[in-house]
Amino acid sequence: QYLSGSDIRTKFLDFYASLEHSILPSASLVPEDPTVLLTIAGMLPFKPIFLGQRTPEFKRATTSQKCIRTNDIENVGVTKRHHTFFEMLGNFSFGDYFKEQAIAWGWEISTKVFGLPPEHLVVSVFEEDDEAFAIWRDQVGVTPTRIIRMGADDNFWNSGPTGPCGPCSEIYYDFHPERGDDNIDLEDDTRFIEFYNLVFMQYNRDAEDNLTPLANKNIDTGMGLERMAQILQQVPNNYETDLIFPIIKTAADIAGIDYSTADEKTKVSLKVIGDHVRAVVHMIADEIRASNTGRGYILRRLIRRVVRHGRLIGISGEFTTQVAETAIALSESAYPGVRKREDAIKAELQREESQFLKTLGNGEKLLDKIIADLKQQNGAVISGKNAFDLYDTHGFPLELTQEIAAENNLTVDEEGFLYEMEEQKKRGREAHETIDLTVQGSIDKLAESINVTDFVGYTEPVATAKIE
Ligand code: ATP
Ligand code: MG
Ligand code: MG
Ligand code: MG
Repeated sequence: QYLSGSDIRTKFLDFYASLEHSILPSASLVPEDPTVLLTIAGMLPFKPIFLGQRTPEFKRATTSQKCIRTNDIENVGVTKRHHTFFEMLGNFSFGDYFKEQAIAWGWEISTKVFGLPPEHLVVSVFEEDDEAFAIWRDQVGVTPTRIIRMGADDNFWNSGPTGPCGPCSEIYYDFHPERGDDNIDLEDDTRFIEFYNLVFMQYNRDAEDNLTPLANKNIDTGMGLERMAQILQQVPNNYETDLIFPIIKTAADIAGIDYSTADEKTKVSLKVIGDHVRAVVHMIADEIRASNTGRGYILRRLIRRVVRHGRLIGISGEFTTQVAETAIALSESAYPGVRKREDAIKAELQREESQFLKTLGNGEKLLDKIIADLKQQNGAVISGKNAFDLYDTHGFPLELTQEIAAENNLTVDEEGFLYEMEEQKKRGREAHETIDLTVQGSIDKLAESINVTDFVGYTEPVATAKIE
């Protein structure tokens, strides 16, 4: 039986509602917590409750929370499972039920409500969490070879550098159980996909990295709606689910491309457009405006990436409002507020897009001059430095420069370009190994992954960063 993304959302919320969880609406993408740039998980609106700073009116809640994770931006369109914008389904206990109950219900909803065959499931636990291991083995009945102990990187969840945290246990879908239980590698995404994380939220991490037990033992969980849809709809990746594919189809139609026969590179661009358009539509719906600072800056970068990828697949005019229309239509049943913001969304996109197209136009002029100079000197190769400058200052993807170069029987020094890029990154990089969800952390990560000198960055406030 086919389950749409919307069916999956409803089934999740209904299951937990039947277990006395209050269904709460998604909070805004703009968190109340001033230290966090965007809502990155379903738990964020409940952070004050976990910390004991606010008393909840209920002991159990369930939500479908809009999330944005800029730290996953380079995975967008590349992996089968990562987005910037996604919905996280969650069930929460505020000092009420704990580990045993959360695991039992997590298994029940996966196998009974969604009907996933137990032999297709694998679970992970934090390596020191013998209790969780025993619950999976003895109470749920999972074969011990399919309970994988993992280190803190994967199985100790932090809501940020400081704040509520705890060991977690994740449920993975195994596309190929016939490959056997020897050497199970959960990182192998041709075989496994993580879809549900159960966090045993019981500590607070302070600035000195000390863990102190919270007054209550809490449960915080997250199931990726798009991932569950991928599994249940039996499509090759999240992007081909009914939650996103219509957006991709709209963009492909505008470009005159047939997705099913498109090459890999084109598919990646279409996926980036599919992902980012959803993100920007919801961001603007939540009253974020494009700017040179903070979350407004992220919005601007995402819109520009949409435009750039549009150019890469051969769209020359303005197209973002048309694609946004599809994303707005898709959001209507679950997020009626988005349609109400339709005019604002389209106006913002239109303004940003035309402004950016102008910037690109200036880049084109610069490139024309570079080409003319080169021809005069009988050169054949556009230098890496020039190509990087076009990329960095004028938003020209390398591919675009290469394309125009080829039209003029020239090539681009790609190695030189990559060298400049690396140098740039080296200058700007800070180690962000864990998900750093602080305001500056998210911006730094985004800076690393898209376009670096726009972000003067680490010492100067972003407000002064050069953008054009
Ligand atoms: P992964 O290891 O695949 O990057 P994660 O461990 O970082 O996922 P969690 O922080 O545990 O993810 O988030 C809970 C759930 O939210 C995940 O199990 C997944 O289903 C979903 N999720 C997390 N990040 C993304 C994303 N970038 N795009 C889509 N879904 C996501
Ligand atoms: Mg991740
Ligand atoms: Mg993970
Ligand atoms: Mg996880």
